[in-house]
Amino acid sequence: MKNKILVISAILILSSAVFFGWGDKGHKIVASFAMKDLSSVMNIPQDWQNYVVDHSVDPDYRKGADKTEPNKHFIDIDYYKEFLEGKMIEDLDSLRMRYSDSVITKEGTLPWAVENTYNNLVKAFTEKNKANILLYMSDLAHYIGDAHQPQHTCLNYNGQLTGQKGIHFRYEISMLDSYVNEINASFEEGKPVKINNIRPFIFNIVTRSNTFVDVITAADKIALQHNGTGKYDETYRKLMWFRTKFFTIDQLNLGGKDLASAIYSAWLQAGSPDLAAIK
Ligand SMILES: [Zn+2]
Repeated sequence: MKNKILVISAILILSSAVFFGWGDKGHKIVASFAMKDLSSVMNIPQDWQNYVVDHSVDPDYRKGADKTEPNKHFIDIDYYKEFLEGKMIEDLDSLRMRYSDSVITKEGTLPWAVENTYNNLVKAFTEKNKANILLYMSDLAHYIGDAHQPQHTCLNYNGQLTGQKGIHFRYEISMLDSYVNEINASFEEGKPVKINNIRPFIFNIVTRSNTFVDVITAADKIALQHNGTGKYDETYRKLMWFRTKFFTIDQLNLGGKDLASAIYSAWLQAGSPDLAAIK
């Protein structure tokens, strides 16, 4: 019985990690890029920086224990006709006038999870609460990372609508994990900017990400047709990378830049507290 429970929990953990995240490597890349950029404007203690990189994956591992967690990692924004017509309703209360809570939850709440986490981070900085600052910086790193993964912003998140089941894992873990060195080498230092309003900021990120969904599905088909074996092998991964690397590298770098700007803005909004003095 105990073994059965262990097996079931392992499957649950694996499937949630597969379907709802850059892999651990992708999230840690975004967090570490942000920490590098932040060093020019904020004095974040080194052990805090390490903590945020390590814990940027935590929200994926909370999913099993917390039923409200999984839906915070995505939004199937192309479910909404308002989005397809170019005028997404970004205010949650206004969206609730047209769609039921169960629909909104089912289609994912990522943008509002970012907004809430950002507000919690402002509060934590204001209160100089170290535990909460670390928690919300790490969570923000995760959710902003997810928002840059195109497959976290669409209905066809696993190729289930186009006969390409499993594409989510193939793109964000199987392929990406093979090219981590190339992605890390692409980093160029930048300066965080002040965000005036977090909600349109995050919806712009999601909208941009959504434009790459069809590039991924097309690349998957072409890679499988032309790798000579018709299998998801190393040649498939090479061809997949060949067709997706330009925007994938951009998305991960932009994830770092956007995360740095969000943390920097929350800190400014809280009156720029001296972090080194917080124990
Ligand atoms: Zn996630």
